Amino acid sequence: MSIVLFGPPGAGKGTQSQLLTDRNTIKHLSTGDLFRKAMGEGSPLGLEAKSYVDAGKLVPDTVTIGLVRELLEKNINTDYIFDGFPRTENQAKALEEMISAINAKPISRAIFLEVDEKILVDRLSGRRVCKNCNAVYHIQSKPSKVEGVCDLCGGLVYQRKDDGVDVISTRLKAYEENTKPLKKYYSDVGLFTSINGEGETESIYKNIKKFVQ
Ligand code: AMP
Repeated sequence: MSIVLFGPPGAGKGTQSQLLTDRNTIKHLSTGDLFRKAMGEGSPLGLEAKSYVDAGKLVPDTVTIGLVRELLEKNINTDYIFDGFPRTENQAKALEEMISAINAKPISRAIFLEVDEKILVDRLSGRRVCKNCNAVYHIQSKPSKVEGVCDLCGGLVYQRKDDGVDVISTRLKAYEENTKPLKKYYSDVGLFTSINGEGETESIYKNIKKFVQ
């Protein structure tokens, strides 16, 4: 069974998804990571996504849904953690439809990570990411041992353009307008669970793990 992990930017979706995939037989599907990879390669998808991602705006649904569909069609027997997808009600409906159309693994839970806005801004503005393996650091709470170098793979640790203070507010607005309504959407279909995303990484992990088979 697959799960959806959603919440505002900076809620810890990427960190928790990484732990879940490292310790379980579930795979990580992050549309944000896919867009950044395509942007790094300069592929047509990357060129299309770049202006939206860099500005903190949502990539149009048609592009995002098409990307996920293409991946799912090739991996119908895989249990996924959907991280950062769906981000709109339209995407949530499309995901449900494509899963039943291609007989992919159904969604067993949609887990919302609840974090106060002040903490989100602090996490996002101090976040640094490895360009190679996507490991996540924070300049205060979890710096890499050598500045700019990933502890795990030696890759380049950098600040995402959309983690700049000016772009963070646009991302939070996009979340409020488009993604927050998914709380009601997933409640209505009986899949919603809210988890406090402010504590220790390990205790948040334990709470999420209860829903991962
Ligand atoms: P993330 O890594 O999840 O924070 O995503 C980074 C950026 O990628 C977002 O701010 C959007 O520009 C884009 N993006 C990621 N996932 C989606 C999605 N499901 N729908 C639209 N845009 C997305």
